[in-house]
Amino acid sequence: MYNVKSHKAEEFIDDAEILETLEYASSNRNNRPLIESILEKASRCGGLSHREAAVLLDCEIPDLVERTFRLAEEIKKRFYGNRIVMFAPLYLSNHCVNGCIYCPYHAKNKRIPRKKLTQEEIRREVTALQDMGHKRLAIELGEHPVENPIEYVLESIRTIYGIHHRNGDIRRVNVNIAATTVENYRKLKDAGIGTYILFQETYNKERYRMLHPTGPKSDYAYHTEAMDRAREGGIDDMGIGVLFGLSGYRYDFVGLMMHAEHMEAALGVGPHTISVPRIRPADDINPEDFSDGVPDEKFLHIVAVIRCAVPYTGMIISTRESRKVREKVLDLGISQISGASRTSVGGYTVEQRDEDTAQFDLADKRTLDEVVRWLMELGYLPSFCTACYRAGRTGERFMKICKSGKIQDCCTPNAILTLKEYLLDYASPATLEIGEALLDREVEKIENSALRDSLRKDLRSLEEGQRDLRY
Ligand code: SF4
Ligand code: SF4
Repeated sequence: MYNVKSHKAEEFIDDAEILETLEYASSNRNNRPLIESILEKASRCGGLSHREAAVLLDCEIPDLVERTFRLAEEIKKRFYGNRIVMFAPLYLSNHCVNGCIYCPYHAKNKRIPRKKLTQEEIRREVTALQDMGHKRLAIELGEHPVENPIEYVLESIRTIYGIHHRNGDIRRVNVNIAATTVENYRKLKDAGIGTYILFQETYNKERYRMLHPTGPKSDYAYHTEAMDRAREGGIDDMGIGVLFGLSGYRYDFVGLMMHAEHMEAALGVGPHTISVPRIRPADDINPEDFSDGVPDEKFLHIVAVIRCAVPYTGMIISTRESRKVREKVLDLGISQISGASRTSVGGYTVEQRDEDTAQFDLADKRTLDEVVRWLMELGYLPSFCTACYRAGRTGERFMKICKSGKIQDCCTPNAILTLKEYLLDYASPATLEIGEALLDREVEKIENSALRDSLRKDLRSLEEGQRDLRY
């Protein structure tokens, strides 16, 4: 029985409710008055229910699909302006006891070399990331109670926060580790993590069982209820996502929306971020073995509808996607992207990129400098901001400021200051030139004259050598 407030997976992700929703969406996909009323509701930026979002995604009327895309762009602009936050993944270990059939780290893959970074190796990787200009990392590990216990994760977080190379600094460590206990989540919270990220992969229980035949992750309920335990452990910034292509996208889309509604209703805070990865080739993984691949056009539609349905939630896209697709989804709602990523363990320091240990192949292999320049040429303002978590603006407090629109007063100035730091410390001459011109225009656009003056003063302070100024 569907119950959005229940802490039981089978009740807040109720299969019957998803199937009814899909039926409702398919029987209303050409219902113009209904779809227009949903678009009208979405334009008020109060969000949509999973049923409404499902109808929008199923809609086949060309002009209404087009209106959905335009509305997503408008909402994106209203909440995020032209800012795009940058981050990089850092793979610490690919030891894993699970049997996920879509991931080359699965326990039975004997071809892939297993690696776990020592603290010294982490230092070298983080220094390399700092030397590119990164300030925000997402650490990634396989699940292995002996090789990757929670103590290893905590020690690694301490190491990362403790490295200060030249003007480099990792100011926010987001964590993507397997579902764990309330006690371990509490330890992660105490270690000062940013967002705890865990992808559901698929919400379809039957399909989930087939995809996860062995290992602790095969327990659907334990995995699906992870965010409830994380919240109990004190974590209030949580990121969710599915791996599109593993199962039918319509089912997973509705599951994702229901999970977001559940978090808001039962945990008091909706998802901080939603990620939209699609399955990619890797060592012994061929995406063609998965018949549910999502074509580009539908993928863009999914991004647009998520933007309309959960306007306050950040949306993340990784280098799994090509430059072409990334360019399109930036307009439709994506607010965070990774740049110059390596998806292998030790990938930032090995001379020749160590493809052998990669979790998936990258579609976008440009350097961070190239990605930053590309974003600026497209009219975006790349941001290395990490201010909220460090100023205690997390969870409910963050959502309140976000919903009131006041977060804009922090995001733009912080984007300007952190981009300035990047330009001063890491940019190539071509990027620096474009960046300085962009910063002039962005400061000019700020309407509040006191804020504008204060920002100009801060920019001068950065030029004189100060760092880490924030609003
Ligand atoms: S997806 Fe995660 S849990 Fe599954 S095999 Fe890969 S690393 Fe292990
Ligand atoms: S001010 Fe907060 S919400 Fe805005 S970019 Fe920085 S960390 Fe993100």
